[in-house]
Amino acid sequence: MPGKGPTLKLVTRAQLGWPASAAPAQATTRGVKVHYEGTPVSTRLLTDHAACIAEWKAIRASHLANKTENYSDVAYNYAACPHGYLLEGRGIGKRTGANGNQDLNRAHYAIVGLVGSSGLVTPTDAMLGAIRDGIDLLRQHGAGPEIKGHRDGYATTCPGASLYAWVQKGAPRPGTTTPPTEDDVSLTAAQAKQLAELHDVLVPYAGWQYKGKDEETDAYAYLRGTNASVKAVDAKVSALKPVDLTDAQIAALAEKVAAAPGLADAIAEKVAQKIADRLAE
Ligand SMILES: [Zn+2]
Ligand SMILES: [Zn+2]
Repeated sequence: MPGKGPTLKLVTRAQLGWPASAAPAQATTRGVKVHYEGTPVSTRLLTDHAACIAEWKAIRASHLANKTENYSDVAYNYAACPHGYLLEGRGIGKRTGANGNQDLNRAHYAIVGLVGSSGLVTPTDAMLGAIRDGIDLLRQHGAGPEIKGHRDGYATTCPGASLYAWVQKGAPRPGTTTPPTEDDVSLTAAQAKQLAELHDVLVPYAGWQYKGKDEETDAYAYLRGTNASVKAVDAKVSALKPVDLTDAQIAALAEKVAAAPGLADAIAEKVAQKIADRLAE
């Protein structure tokens, strides 16, 4: 699949000379919020990666010096530089301090792009790729599918116009198509048939319906029959061949669901409707 297998260019805390983060633990969140620096940022960063590292260290130093916020560490989980490096901040499994208040900090992790309000304001493609790397990394370690900007739910201009427009598109990896559409998830006829068979096996509910107050009931027979039905379904499911979606198809579906959080609900609704239709037959 296009854009698959990006090479993560991670700069660790150890490489930065920082101790383990003292930030509180946060094992899961609803997703990730994207930030910018919100201050002037020198365009020198574009041509001098050492300046990126110095910038990141300066951000941490300023956060540690901030007596109002009383930060235990740099506030962000990660930063992304114009050269495509993902710079470790609090890292994996840690609550951010950047989203505005404790409820917001518990709800999303935080990644900052090293762009600002003047000077360097437009993220490079490499920076967008690094932010996406950070999102994907956090998703592998507890982050849910949401991708939002700092301004979502908090009064701020952060993450600036460029990054926010990208966030609203679902934070697509540069050089790839924007979030895949339904057409990108093409199933073979065999795969579609396998899915249809699976659906038929999983909808044997007609015999389990409650018969009504005045009808003859026999709890023992009902439960014994239910048990037999479950065993029959289990046997049928066990006998099914796997659907065999390719990794690319699964990734395309996952990206599509992630880009449109309502999609999972829509799919669930369609399945529920099919079951209801079946029961009505
Ligand atoms: Zn912010
Ligand atoms: Zn850099």
